[in-house]
Order: sequence, then structure tokens, then C-alpha cells
Amino acid sequence: MLHGLTTDQRDNLLAFARFTDEHLLPHANTWDHQERLDDSIIAELAAAHRLVPTLPVEAGGTGMDAVTYGLLSEELGRGCGSVRNLVAVQGMVAHAILRWGSKTLADRWAPAIGTGSVIGSFALTEPEVGSDARNGTTTARRVLDGYEITGRKKWISFAQRAGVFLVFARLDDDPAAFIVERDSPGLSVSPINGLLGLRASELGEVHLDSVVVPESNLLSHGRLTFDLVATSSLDYGRYSTAYGSVGLAQGCLDASLEYARNRVQFDVPLAEHQLVQQALTEMVTSVEAARLLCRQAGQMRASSHRDAIRQTLIAKYFASRAGFEVAASAVQIHGANGVSADYPVQRYLRDAKIQEIIEGTSQIQQVQIADLTLART
Ligand SMILES: Cc1cc2nc3c(=O)[nH]c(=O)nc-3n(C[C@H](O)[C@H](O)[C@H](O)COP(=O)(O)OP(=O)(O)OC[C@H]3O[C@@H](n4cnc5c(N)ncnc54)[C@H](O)[C@@H]3O)c2cc1C
Repeated sequence: MLHGLTTDQRDNLLAFARFTDEHLLPHANTWDHQERLDDSIIAELAAAHRLVPTLPVEAGGTGMDAVTYGLLSEELGRGCGSVRNLVAVQGMVAHAILRWGSKTLADRWAPAIGTGSVIGSFALTEPEVGSDARNGTTTARRVLDGYEITGRKKWISFAQRAGVFLVFARLDDDPAAFIVERDSPGLSVSPINGLLGLRASELGEVHLDSVVVPESNLLSHGRLTFDLVATSSLDYGRYSTAYGSVGLAQGCLDASLEYARNRVQFDVPLAEHQLVQQALTEMVTSVEAARLLCRQAGQMRASSHRDAIRQTLIAKYFASRAGFEVAASAVQIHGANGVSADYPVQRYLRDAKIQEIIEGTSQIQQVQIADLTLART
């Protein structure tokens, strides 16, 4: 697990693991049950500069490198999938504003999101448009005071508590991205409850009824907006999801090893039954393989390798599927206790299924990985 890391990265990993053991694992089932994160965990993440640590110091981050950010995502994923999702989304929104927005927008929002004084949401998906996100129907038109936006966004993580939304819409038939503040007249959020997994991600449906934003809130407009803004944000989120799936799988493995050592059936611990050993072997092999793919993606991202996006897709595709398989095995090893709220593995299994859907479904990634591989020279 520590092989190939620098001393700083190892130290950081140990600190992240301590944070997960002390601040996430004891509460994750409760947050899952209440379908909401406690405000205190967001404050703790902000105090530890872990909400958007990859931002430069002057924008409220710590300038964390890509490999270390991956390690953080893994540990957050081991603790609580919704906390990892929160951190991923804050990074997606803050980096998009910093990279593609005006200096005024960047100064106003990136440090606010980085320090947790405002929560950001990434609003791309619509009720009728998910995988085919380029064909969204939310529209914007020029008005006297700026732009008027009308449409609906669905399945938006942390929409229930967001103070600002990064909204994708069509303007003059080209894609555009806007910053929309929560208190804008015409914007309302309906909570989405009762999800299978990532239940503490406070999802919402965002209604935009002739919402007017000032001209300065236009982040990007033009043919390339989707490729630049949405694609780079999703790539950032995908890297977090990939590593988060490794953490989730590691959490399942840890829980299963402990359970198999202690639970006695037929007069011996489960760990002595060879079919249980076989399951454990499959699990540990999947965890290690997924981690290596993520580590490679992290190193390629850190060196701005031209194939980093493809490698991140491969890591997310493999790790999210592996996470689901490992979580299913963990529930099986736990027997009836596996489906009980007293144990974490049922939560991991439910969260694992979501990881195969967010930031691009496994099927969309199969297409993207093949396309990028075929296009290689
Ligand atoms: C917990 C959670 C959090 C989320 N958070 C956010 C968020 O913060 N912001 C946001 O914008 N969105 C968010 N989403 C939405 C998510 O990005 C979409 O659900 C995802 O992109 C898939 O879109 P869809 O659900 O409309 O499925 P669809 O696109 O309708 O796909 C349905 C099925 O068809 C398959 N399919 C579709 N097209 C093809 C194809 N061309 N070839 C083969 N198979 C295909 C898909 O793989 C899938 O299995 C979230 C979703 C969940 C569940």
C-alpha cells in the first residue's frame, strides 16, 4: 500500500487514515440513515484544508499534488462515500471557476468553496438527459441585466445545502456554463430522498424558472464549453471516484478479514474455510489491482501525461466495478450480519453501485476508453 510513495505522501496517507478512523467511520452509518452529513464534519474538513486541497494556496487550498489527492480520496472513500463525493464536487466546481472563469468570479467563489463558507454543486444532469449530457435542454437567453436561465437539473449532489451552482445550459445554440447563486429569484431545490446509496449526498432537483444572472456570471460560452469545462470537471471527479472505490473495497476487505477471523462456524473461524479464503483472495487481488491502476493514473496526472484522462477512465471503470464485486463478497462473508445496519458492509455495497453510475456510467466509459484507445497513434 505504501510502496512507491514519497515520505511526504506516506505521512499524509497515515494522517488521512487517522482522520477516517476517528471522524468518518464512527458516523458514516448514521449519516447514511439520516440522509444528511453533519455540519461538523464539513467544518472539520475545512479546518484541515481538505475540502479542495488541490487549489493553490492563494485560492484557499494547499496545492496538493494529484497522487496525494488520490490517497485522500481513497481514505475518504474507506470512511464515507458521501464525504468523498462532497470533496470531489467541491473540487469540480472550484477548479472550473478558477480555470475558466474571470478573475472576479475566481476571487469571489474559489476561496469561499475551498474554505467551506459556501458549498458548490455541479448541475449538469437533467431529468431527461443523463449520459447524453451534451444535449441538455436548459436554455439561457440574453436579457437587459444579463442572462435568463430556464430548465431543470436532476440528481445534483449537495443541491440541498449548496450556496452556488455551476449550471450548464444552451445559449444561442452553443453550450454555456453559468454561476448561479442559491438565492437567485426563480431558483428552487426539491430534495431527492430514499436513494439506494450515497444517501448522505443530499441530492436535489434544481428548478430554474427564468432565473436572471448578471453578465459577469457567465463562466464559459461556445462550441468548446462542454469539452473544456464539463469534461475537465468530470475527469477530476472521476479520479476521486476511482480512488474512492479502492477505499470502499479496502473497507470491505478490512471488515471481512476481521469478521472471518472472529466468527466461528463448524467449530473453526470462517477464515479457515477454504471457500471463504478463496473469496478473500479475490477481494484482496481486486483491491490491489484497482489501487495500482489509480496510482498510475495519479502519477500520469501529476506529470500532465497526455494519456492521463484515458488512464483515469480506465481506473474508474475498473475500480468502481471491482468495488461493487468486493462489497458483494463482503456482505456474503458477513451472512445475515452483512445486511444489518450494525455493520458497514451493506452501506458499502449500496454506495458501490452508485460509483458505477456517477461521473459517467460504466457503459459510457467502455465507449470512451475504446474511442481513446483506437485514436492513439
Ligand atoms: C448519487 C448520485 C449523485 C449524482 N450527482 C450528480 C451531480 O452532482 N451532478 C450531476 O450533474 N449529475 C449527478 N448525478 C447524475 C449522474 O451523472 C447520471 O445519473 C449519469 O450520468 C447517468 O445518467 P442517467 O441516470 O440519466 O442514465 P441514462 O443516461 O439514462 O442511462 C441509463 C442506462 O443506459 C446506459 N446507456 C446510456 N447511453 C448509452 C450508450 N450510448 N451506450 C450504452 N449504454 C448506454 C447507461 O450506461 C445506463 O446503464 C448523480 C447521480 C447519482 C445516482
